[in-house]
Amino acid sequence: MGSVRNKMKLSHLIPKNHFCSFLLFRQEPLINWTYTKAVLFTAYDIYRSTDFWLDETINSGSTLKEGLVELGFPRGNTLVADTGVFEMEAKKAGIARNLGIEVDIELTNKQIFEAYELSGADYFVAPDEIILPQDSQTEIIIKIGKIKDNLLELLEVVPASKVIAVIQGHSEEVISDIYDFHREQGISCFAMGGVIPLYFHSKDLLDSVLKYVRDLTKKHWLHIFGLPRVSLLQYYLHDIGIDSVDTSSLLYITARRRYLIGSKGVQVREAVFKDCGCEGCKNLDPKKSTRSSDFFVNLYLHNILAAVKLGDNFASHPPGQSRIDTKIENSQDPETAQQKQKPKSSDIVQTNNISIKWMTAEESLAITMRDGEKETPPDSQN
Ligand SMILES: [Zn+2]
Repeated sequence: MGSVRNKMKLSHLIPKNHFCSFLLFRQEPLINWTYTKAVLFTAYDIYRSTDFWLDETINSGSTLKEGLVELGFPRGNTLVADTGVFEMEAKKAGIARNLGIEVDIELTNKQIFEAYELSGADYFVAPDEIILPQDSQTEIIIKIGKIKDNLLELLEVVPASKVIAVIQGHSEEVISDIYDFHREQGISCFAMGGVIPLYFHSKDLLDSVLKYVRDLTKKHWLHIFGLPRVSLLQYYLHDIGIDSVDTSSLLYITARRRYLIGSKGVQVREAVFKDCGCEGCKNLDPKKSTRSSDFFVNLYLHNILAAVKLGDNFASHPPGQSRIDTKIENSQDPETAQQKQKPKSSDIVQTNNISIKWMTAEESLAITMRDGEKETPPDSQN
């Protein structure tokens, strides 16, 4: 492991915390965040928030991080600022569209950088252009140009040491072109974008792209945006050797009342909380309502801690020591794969459902809260 990688103040798992739009994240115990060294939040979260806390913080001249520290957020924890553009796209394509709601939010780079400035974050993700597998050559060239311009714009307001620059593409030519450009600008922290569309397009292509990018960036930190299913954590961190991944999927599976055992999410009624003993499980009482926010928070804590453990365990194994049984199912899309293999009683979380419908964790949470007890049994989701 190179020295540059050791210097990064990031963790394998970087959960997305919705500080601005969910009061839950600004209250104990989530505000005293010690579960991972880094958390991510988005510019989009700032713009969609109508919360007084945000106005008060901004009006007082404090950065968002300072405001959070005042509420109990550990100062030494790393705050990563991302655009949230993917989240917006997901919203547009997901339930918002199903419900006939137009999502009219578009963020310009100027707005994103203003939000970045307000954030007081430790790292900043350069605005991205997602190169899709079906893009034409012309579209790809335009997007590469935008990715490079975006980085240059961000570097006008943030030093290179605080920038996470995004690599896109599916061919060695495109990937190395973008990588070389980023290196010339002094970037040493990279993120691979466009993984989720690629995951649904071709697992083989995703696998070879990730291996190529990892090899190219081997002296540097490499982050991945998005975790379409928790079982991929092992694949990313162990098989590919990625350094970190950010995720909303733990929030999503918590909203669905799933309890992580390893990388499998079982229904909470099947979980034995006292067998775990983590900070969340200590406060989970099987006799209490699973609909309270207290239950939600503690279940979320368990899921976070279980995923952290999963990531750390696998990341500490040298490659080749333990094979992954949940390895990417090559040449099968996850939906077909799940239809073919009838799930066992403790079935795998159906995170592919959200990814296909592009529903954000927050939307899923809103729907779950609204629908109350009407939880769909997992088997009927196939
Ligand atoms: Zn637990």
